[in-house]
Amino acid sequence: MDSPEALAGSFASKVGRPARPSAPLSEWSWFRIGGPADLLFRAESFRDLERAVAWAREQGTRFYIIGGGSNLLFDDEGFRGLIIRNEVRSLELKGSLLAADSGTPLESLVGFLVERSLAGLEFLAGIPGTVGGAVCGNAGAFGHDIGEAVRDVDLLLKNGQTAVRTRAEMAFSYRHSLLKEDHHVVLKARFDVEPGDPVRIRRQVEDYLESRSGKHPCPGTPCAGSYFKNKVLSDGTKLAAGRLLEQAGAKGLRVGDAAVFEGHDNFIINLGRARARDVLDLAAELRERVRSRFGVELEEEVVHLPATASMP
Ligand SMILES: Cc1cc2nc3c(=O)[nH]c(=O)nc-3n(C[C@H](O)[C@H](O)[C@H](O)COP(=O)(O)OP(=O)(O)OC[C@H]3O[C@@H](n4cnc5c(N)ncnc54)[C@H](O)[C@@H]3O)c2cc1C
Repeated sequence: MDSPEALAGSFASKVGRPARPSAPLSEWSWFRIGGPADLLFRAESFRDLERAVAWAREQGTRFYIIGGGSNLLFDDEGFRGLIIRNEVRSLELKGSLLAADSGTPLESLVGFLVERSLAGLEFLAGIPGTVGGAVCGNAGAFGHDIGEAVRDVDLLLKNGQTAVRTRAEMAFSYRHSLLKEDHHVVLKARFDVEPGDPVRIRRQVEDYLESRSGKHPCPGTPCAGSYFKNKVLSDGTKLAAGRLLEQAGAKGLRVGDAAVFEGHDNFIINLGRARARDVLDLAAELRERVRSRFGVELEEEVVHLPATASMP
């Protein structure tokens, strides 16, 4: 197998921009956890994304696209292959259609809409990460998901071709989209927005931010958001994972420096030196407690990216 330095040489000569060898993934993770990736490339244009994916395909090297790293648990062993960090950012408004490059932070998108008094995506206020990550996991809050407002999405397919997928083709459901199985790269997403009352929009965003600050760990506390998905029963009722965890005695549990956040039992936080192994062991303990108390199987919302083996 080629060394990270040899891979970096080959990458730079084909792609025309450098990738960092042996890059610590903890720097790119909201959890602040993760060993070195063989290569990490910061893509600043669609051309960068296309060339990086083409290089990986030609080399037979594993690759994985990340946005803000706010929903990911990297492995203690890092990642054998290429991590592509998507930093392709821009927003363009044409009438009531907003086109967002996939590396655009959700914070910029919300700010852009507030400034122009456009309604429809206020519920994204305070969710960290990028448009691409949010579309992939159909991020949402307060009873809304990003998929509701998507008109269509430009994708870079694994075979290097590009394609447009409509909202219906994206198969959005609770914290899920087509991309969870197919792992195509989102290049751009278009959203339907509508003119609204400037005062109401601003107030709505402020209310959402305030409501979140009461429940979530303080900004800067390393974590990756809700660890488990809420449980959706066959009749459509949702059981809040946080409530199940609380009743199963999650509060105060800790493995190494991975701990259940005292303000919300569905957040696992890194107290300083947590390893991925600690987080996974704590999550397994939490899952087991809910299983044995309620017979309910919790499913992870946070994505653990293995260092080797097949892609998740
Ligand atoms: C404090 C905190 C609060 C949070 N609150 C919420 C919340 O209220 N609601 C909610 O839904 N989530 C929440 N999250 C989770 C997270 O912010 C969202 O899931 C967010 O959408 C992830 O975006 P990201 O760019 O950081 O994705 P990453 O974490 O970088 O990646 C997540 C997944 O998306 C994929 N991905 C990223 N970019 C692309 C792309 N361009 N094309 C294809 N796939 C891509 C990755 O491969 C990975 O599988 C929270 C997280 C934190 C830390």
